[in-house]
Amino acid sequence: MRRNSKLKTENAKLQRLVLSLLEWFSQNARDLPWRQTRDPYAIWVSEIMLQQTQVKTVIPYWDRWMRELPTIQSAARASSAKLHKLWEGLGYYTRVRNLQRAAKQIIGQHSGKCPKDFNDILALPGIGRYTAGAIASIAFNQPRPILDGNVIRVLTRLFGIHDNPRQKKTNAKLWELANALVGYAARTGECSPLNQSLMELGALVCTPRQPQCDACPVNQHCIARLRGWQEKLPNLGKRAKTTARRFIAFVVERNGRLLVRQRPAGILNSHLWEFPNLEAPDSMTPRALARTFFGRAPKKLEPLAAIRHSITRYRITLEAYRAELTNSHAKPDGQWLTRQQLQKLAFTSAHKQILAHLGPPISQSAP
Ligand code: SF4
Repeated sequence: MRRNSKLKTENAKLQRLVLSLLEWFSQNARDLPWRQTRDPYAIWVSEIMLQQTQVKTVIPYWDRWMRELPTIQSAARASSAKLHKLWEGLGYYTRVRNLQRAAKQIIGQHSGKCPKDFNDILALPGIGRYTAGAIASIAFNQPRPILDGNVIRVLTRLFGIHDNPRQKKTNAKLWELANALVGYAARTGECSPLNQSLMELGALVCTPRQPQCDACPVNQHCIARLRGWQEKLPNLGKRAKTTARRFIAFVVERNGRLLVRQRPAGILNSHLWEFPNLEAPDSMTPRALARTFFGRAPKKLEPLAAIRHSITRYRITLEAYRAELTNSHAKPDGQWLTRQQLQKLAFTSAHKQILAHLGPPISQSAP
């Protein structure tokens, strides 16, 4: 008996949450370009870009992508260089390679039309449970749950869930809640706005720091707000310790051409371009490293830039030096390309910054 009444209360809470979220979203949804279409391909591209990347960064990338590759067929046909150039700066480049693999699979297995069936979507390369749910619900209005970082934050706070959401049991519970919410929304055919409202609330109101609880449409139902737990949830456990790493890059120019190389397949940032570089211990001087790298010390070595960035748990310092070689130096591996040629290639973000630090080219003649 008691269990039945608890269930009824929970269902009533879920129902009220859905109504409040839908109402709020109808008045507060941002006008994002991918919200003006139901084209599953366009929504899929936006969802892949939005993984690990903020909306304001994604907008120009998405616009450019949709202009250049407006269909699944064009994405499947695009050259690797073009794909990487369109993705340059977004990072996590496996995403763009998987996107093309998925486009090819859709052409081979689904006559070039994005599949509607959830399991068929999930079977595409680079698409996990979250992205499949997002495509199925947003493009096809299906009652499929979504659970990303924003939604986890909203749900753990709303329901006062203290266990680490990465734990299997807690994660399953969160999926269940997300499923129940979208299930209620399905009754009025509003799966797409409901899922988007959860993402939007997490992005705009229920933010990681200082959530705007007073402006929140579901604040009356929120356990974290009631108990003052907003900053404690979600409980993601201890962060992995960061590790400092140091790399040294050499910018070698001959007759207006720069020495660059393409990162091989199978490693981080594969297929992207960079200046020759090596990881170096703190104790090693750039000159000593240059001697090892070029076989003998360069004629001149001048500091050009120091770029700091992070990749996962690594805090990286990339020191760039202009190196002047003589004819007696062994020919280093790589390609000598003009600045115009380099503009067409996709560089890693850090090495693109090195490129930006270089002045205008001196000459464009062959070495
Ligand atoms: Fe998040 Fe505050 Fe809304 Fe709760 S009341 S869901 S903590 S913004």
